[in-house]
Amino acid sequence: MSHVVLAGGVGAARYLTGAIEAFDPATVTGVVNVADDVVLHGLHVSPDLDTCTYTLAGAIDPDRGWGLVDETWQAMAELGRYGGANWFSLGDRDLGTHLYRTARLHDGATLTEVTGEITAAWGLACRLLPVTDDRIETRVSLTDDREVGFQEYFVGMQHSIDITGVRFAGAEQARLSTMAIEAITSADALVIAPSNPIVSIGPLLAVPTLQELVEARRDRNVAVSPIIGGAALKGPADRMLRELGEESSVVGVARRYRDLAATLVIDEVDRELASAVEDAGMRPIVMPTIMKQPGVAAALAQACHDAATGV
Ligand code: GDP
Ligand code: CA
Repeated sequence: MSHVVLAGGVGAARYLTGAIEAFDPATVTGVVNVADDVVLHGLHVSPDLDTCTYTLAGAIDPDRGWGLVDETWQAMAELGRYGGANWFSLGDRDLGTHLYRTARLHDGATLTEVTGEITAAWGLACRLLPVTDDRIETRVSLTDDREVGFQEYFVGMQHSIDITGVRFAGAEQARLSTMAIEAITSADALVIAPSNPIVSIGPLLAVPTLQELVEARRDRNVAVSPIIGGAALKGPADRMLRELGEESSVVGVARRYRDLAATLVIDEVDRELASAVEDAGMRPIVMPTIMKQPGVAAALAQACHDAATGV
C-alpha cells in the first residue's frame, strides 16, 4: 500500500502527520514544492521541505508554525550589526540545516539526496521528495507593476499588496524527480494536501508531465480543501484566489482541481456547499478538516485513502 501527497508547507505538514499516524510511515511519501526556495547569505533555504521535516519530527515551533522549537536568534542579531539583510529570520538551530544542505549541494549532491539525509537524521520513517532537483522560483506580479520573488512578497511585504499574476521561473526546463514519477504512478492513493493552490500546488503542476501524470489517475486522487468557510486558516490563499479572479470557497477549489482529482474533502462548516462542489465536477466528502484538534489529521488521511481506493 502507498499513500502519496502533493505537498506545500504548513497545511501539507499537518496532513502528513495524520498520514504517518494512520498508516505505516514507510508507505507515506510527500512530493514537496521547492518554488519557495531561496538563497540567502549564500545559503540554500527550502522552506516547505523544512516545514514538513520539522513538523513530522515533532520539532516545529508550535506558535510560529515554522522553524524549530526552542529557537534563538543570535546569528540574525549579529547580521543586523553589520547592516546585513535580516528580513527573513533564520534561527540559530535552523541555520544548521541550511549550512548542511548548502555544503552538500556545493559538493554535488542533489536536493533529493540531501533531503533524504536530513529527514533520516530527524528520524523520519516516511519519505519527502523535492518535486525536482532543478531550481524553480515563484515570481509574483503586483498591482504596482512590480514583479518580486515569493519570499519578498510573502515575508518582506507580509503579502500586503494585491497580486495580478504568478509565474514559476525555470519550471518549463525543470525535470520532474524520477522518484516522484515512480511514487505518483504507483500510489494506491494520491492526495492533494490542503496547501495553497496557487503557490504551493501550482508550482508542482508547472513541472512538465506532473499534471498529466496526476490527471491520468484522477479517479484514485483526492484533494483536501485549504479553504474553510471562504477563508484560508493561515496565509494569503484566499486573497490570492480572489485577486486572480477565482472564488475563495470550496467551489472555487473544486473548479481548480476537478481535472486532477475525483473527490474533494470539505470541512463541516461548508456542508451547504456540497451540492455546488458536485455541480463543479467533484464528489464531496464532508468532515472535520481543522487539524489542530487531535485525531483530525489521521481521520482525514484515512478518509482520503478510503475514497481513493474505493473502500
Ligand atoms: P505554506 O507553504 O507554509 O504556506 O503552507 P501550505 O501551502 O501547505 O498551506 C497553506 C494553506 O494550508 C492555507 O491555505 C491554510 O488554509 C491551509 N491549512 C493550514 N492548516 C490547515 C488545516 O488544519 N486544515 C485545512 N483544511 N487547511 C489548512
Ligand atoms: Ca510554502
